[in-house]
Amino acid sequence: MLQHHPWVFSGAVAQVQGYVGRGDVVDVVAADGEWLARGTWSSGSQIRVRLFTWDRDEALDEALLRRRIERAVAARQLLQADDRDGDAMRLVFAESDGLPGLIVDKYGEFLSVQLQTQGMAARAEPIISALVDLVKPRGIYERSDPDMREKESLPPGEGLLWGEMPPEQVIIRQHALKFYTSLQSGQKTGFFLDQARNRRRVAAYAAGTEMLDCFSYSGGFLLYAAQSQPDHITAIDSSAPAIDMLRANLELNGVSTSVDTEVADVFQKLRQYRFEKRQFDLIVLDPPKFAHAGGQIERATRGYKDINLIAMQLLRPGGMLVTFSCSGLVSTDLFQKVIFGAAVDARRDVQIVERLTQSPDHPVLLTFPEGDYLKGLVCRVW
Ligand code: SAH
Repeated sequence: MLQHHPWVFSGAVAQVQGYVGRGDVVDVVAADGEWLARGTWSSGSQIRVRLFTWDRDEALDEALLRRRIERAVAARQLLQADDRDGDAMRLVFAESDGLPGLIVDKYGEFLSVQLQTQGMAARAEPIISALVDLVKPRGIYERSDPDMREKESLPPGEGLLWGEMPPEQVIIRQHALKFYTSLQSGQKTGFFLDQARNRRRVAAYAAGTEMLDCFSYSGGFLLYAAQSQPDHITAIDSSAPAIDMLRANLELNGVSTSVDTEVADVFQKLRQYRFEKRQFDLIVLDPPKFAHAGGQIERATRGYKDINLIAMQLLRPGGMLVTFSCSGLVSTDLFQKVIFGAAVDARRDVQIVERLTQSPDHPVLLTFPEGDYLKGLVCRVW
């Protein structure tokens, strides 16, 4: 806590003075009585207090929320001016923006909001009013993560919070491309904004290739790649609605590259391709989070090793593997070791050509390293 990490676990709370309700403001005081920090209370949650300030004179009130939201939004405007030609990005990234429990994603004229803690759920109104003033959206839709809400003993939070209901499909712009995105029924909040910059990096290696996009979702990587004139693209995702959206996105952007889509399990499909001796020049592996808790790290690394090993075997010599892990619990070091293990077993020489991370609208606060979750390696496989 002295290092300004924003969480206080339940085991660290020795005593509560007076009645404290769900989401209430609490002051955290050391055993010797010294004032430490101020945050919001989450009764029954493993993370009992989310800290907002270490300055005794700073009130945790609506004005603080508004100041922090304003700062986060202003920082994104600078980013947009830099290179994010588009109208979709993460405006507020929870702890990393000094707003534990709050995520705000902008999709065109609509906002998708996640209120993940008792503190934020209790403050929906001032948050909405700040967003309406600062961003002027047409509508604000709540799409809180049901697992996170459950850990906070909160009911699922989903539905219109303010303004106009977003259409089932919102069209967002990302650089020169357009994507159908569903705030209501898409995965997470609709689109994987954290990969925005990385999609451009993949496009840089796609010209003239046979590309395989594993865990494609709505086609983020392959639509960027298609702009570099690959010969052929195969996309795999286990979700039929995701593949439908991918098909619609190909049409929306008038993509002429031939694209095969498979609704299938990547682990099985890669084995089938190996059996069929299929080969590719560029493979993207962007799996979902494999490790959700400390106890799952080992199983997660086995999963990463499995798909990366087979992907290396499917690459022609000199081919490119772009591989990601979005499990925060799997560190960059550990991920690299797993890829090393896969290379040894595949008997291939592998060079790291680029290291990738989450896009800059997902900043990492130094006092909250947990926010640093996405890592990627662009590898040349000989
Ligand atoms: N690359 C995507 C995001 C991937 S998110 C983009 O750029 O937008 C992870 C995707 O993996 C989801 O679409 C999910 O449906 C899919 N998925 C999860 N488990 C899978 C499996 N075993 N086989 C194939 N797809 C899977």
